Amino acid sequence: MALVTFNDILPQARQAGRAVGAFNIANYETAKAVMIAAEAEQQPVILQVYHRLMSDPYISALGAMMRNMAEKASVPVAVHLDHGATFEQVKLAIDCGFSSVMFDGSQLPFAENLEQTRSAAEYAHRHGVTIEGEIGHVPLNGTEAAVNIPLSTPEEAAAFAAETGVDALAVSIGTAHGYYREEPKIAVDFAQQISAVVAIPLVLHGGSGTPHEKVKAVIKNGFAKVNVATEFQHTFQLRLQDELQKQDGKFLPLDKLMLAPTDAAVKHLRTLIHMFSHP
Ligand SMILES: [Zn+2]
Repeated sequence: MALVTFNDILPQARQAGRAVGAFNIANYETAKAVMIAAEAEQQPVILQVYHRLMSDPYISALGAMMRNMAEKASVPVAVHLDHGATFEQVKLAIDCGFSSVMFDGSQLPFAENLEQTRSAAEYAHRHGVTIEGEIGHVPLNGTEAAVNIPLSTPEEAAAFAAETGVDALAVSIGTAHGYYREEPKIAVDFAQQISAVVAIPLVLHGGSGTPHEKVKAVIKNGFAKVNVATEFQHTFQLRLQDELQKQDGKFLPLDKLMLAPTDAAVKHLRTLIHMFSHP
């Protein structure tokens, strides 16, 4: 029984200068890959789903599967909603048994983000669930916003954490979602300034393709959760493409077809988990 909330793993990681990997899964195989990698590394992990999947008609089945995997694990596992866009999604995730949620109001004006996040936090905490908030939007790579990424200010971050009661806070320090077209300017000094005034675990979004040395430096400055989606899902996809080419149209049962891509994802995830836990 190792299903946990953020409060069972993230404050400890922050204190030790480590981070827990939070990986966006999309199906059984990607979830299985995360679990095998975390067990092999003997590190806590966060299984998370992007909010788009909350409109899948069988999201409760996906939630039950993740919970079951967490409960059987020998390492602590949190089941988390990534970028919850509405209060309804937060509620649905909690109804589906998630142990943690994110409410992302980072595109709202600061005061409104604060108010809505505070309501979501009260609701989550009443249900024994932890919550992540976000300020200073982390944009999508290749979009106009990613060209000039607005950074959060330390004062804003401190006020937001104190007034919303969130358990973890995502702040923009120069990363973007997806792959980068050019090397990102990650503000490590800025991460230091935020971590000096915000005591709760900080969250790095846009971990894919961020130079490892920068990620390690940020982890040592209070960022105890690192989100990765694109990088490991792409590893899975490319290996699947190889397998399909090898099969050349011949039938192979899907469970067998998925073995090599799952294995490739496990190897990639183990490298990341190892780096995050030994920065
Ligand atoms: Zn994100």
